[in-house]
Amino acid sequence: MVSEFMLQQTQTSRVIEPWRRFLDRFPTPQTCADAPLSDVLVLWAGLGYHRRAKALHDAARLIRDEFEGAVPSEVSALRRLPGVGEYTAHAVASFAFGQNVAVLDTNVGRVLARAIANRPLRPAEARCVARDLLPRSASAKFNQSMLDLGAQFCTSSPQCANCPVAQVCRWRQEGGPDPAPTSAGVSRRQSTFEGSDRQLRGRVLAALRQRPHSLQQLMDTLDVAGERGASVIDGLVRDGLIERANDEVALAGQASSAAPRGSA
Ligand code: SF4
Repeated sequence: MVSEFMLQQTQTSRVIEPWRRFLDRFPTPQTCADAPLSDVLVLWAGLGYHRRAKALHDAARLIRDEFEGAVPSEVSALRRLPGVGEYTAHAVASFAFGQNVAVLDTNVGRVLARAIANRPLRPAEARCVARDLLPRSASAKFNQSMLDLGAQFCTSSPQCANCPVAQVCRWRQEGGPDPAPTSAGVSRRQSTFEGSDRQLRGRVLAALRQRPHSLQQLMDTLDVAGERGASVIDGLVRDGLIERANDEVALAGQASSAAPRGSA
């Protein structure tokens, strides 16, 4: 579940080290739930899209409070957890618990549209096709194979000459316009990072991972027009990732976790 959260918007190569650090520090949902959010945000360094860190922390708290500390195995229960959408619920149910459910992401959506249907698939259609294709046994291995096929061969510029299913691929055999770009779940490119608010949010959080800052220190760190810097900081406060008390800004939970025992 932790790896699926981290992989939602980050490449595998960038996830491996943070994933190891995270599981060393939080070997169970309970240990994560009991820690302040600031500890999770410190371990999230390098991954970006920090709302996922808060959602994972909130999910750990729900697992502790309502699922006796054990990650649920059913898709319907997984969907109740913050940050767990259709894809993540199916991936956790399949890969962690061996449930017989189809995993459908951007990569698999491309394979289904090209190799099976040779036409664009709407979301509900893609889910049906994925379900029909699922074998009764070893479905987790099958799901992993479909993800790999989409990631390594059936990419946006497909490598058909080397593809292991080229012999049975409808688009390859029948031809026609590429059905993948307008199919369900086929994502658009991420917006440019350089100069974006996403980059500024990362800079605020990187500074606060070191220590709490005064508002003025943070604005100096950002080095952008005052209005834009203030709006980035306000956005992080609204998302519950940082806290602002008077002039001091800190990671969420950092100030309270640093307070001496017995203090108000
Ligand atoms: S043959 Fe080409 S289009 Fe068909 S599944 Fe393989 S990579 Fe995709």
